[in-house]
Amino acid sequence: MKIVDFDQYIRVIEDFPKPGISFKDITTLLKDGEAYRAAIDNIVEQVKGYQPDIIVGPEARGFLLGAPVAYALGIGFVPVRKPGKLPGQTVSETYELEYGCDTLEVHADALRPGQRVAILDDLLATGGTTSATARLIEKTGAQVVSMGFLIELSFLEGRKKLQGYDIFSLLNY
Ligand code: 5GP
Repeated sequence: MKIVDFDQYIRVIEDFPKPGISFKDITTLLKDGEAYRAAIDNIVEQVKGYQPDIIVGPEARGFLLGAPVAYALGIGFVPVRKPGKLPGQTVSETYELEYGCDTLEVHADALRPGQRVAILDDLLATGGTTSATARLIEKTGAQVVSMGFLIELSFLEGRKKLQGYDIFSLLNY
């Protein structure tokens, strides 16, 4: 597996999407074939020890990491989406944001009780998205065995919201 300094591929954009936010842009990593492949290979190596049956990724950047990892492991991928996007019957979970709240949905029949699920997303900030995703998965009876991220903003202490889960990230800010 290629060792890559992923940090140099992340572009930081100040005041996006609103003033005061220092946004970590991963599109600069994704467009570099070698860096993107190295990131996926690295996540595959870390997640396979948990022997997941399926990968779950939240819309939209979770798809960009989750789907290639699922392909590499030869297992399935289940998308978690914003309300009204999935055509079948869904299970939903609402979580609080700094201002207001948001809802995530998954197909009710996408996961089976007892299935071992790894959640993958691009970035762990406050942990709200991932903890809502975990609750969604657990509503179906499946089990969350790992949570993996390309980037973790550890100063926002997302891990506190995710206590009891196994978490890994490739890059820490
Ligand atoms: P949280 O719910 O942990 O506060 O926020 C994580 C979610 O917001 C992830 O789904 C991630 O895609 C998105 N997000 C928040 N901040 C950033 C950022 O600086 N860069 C990127 N790429 N995504 C972010």
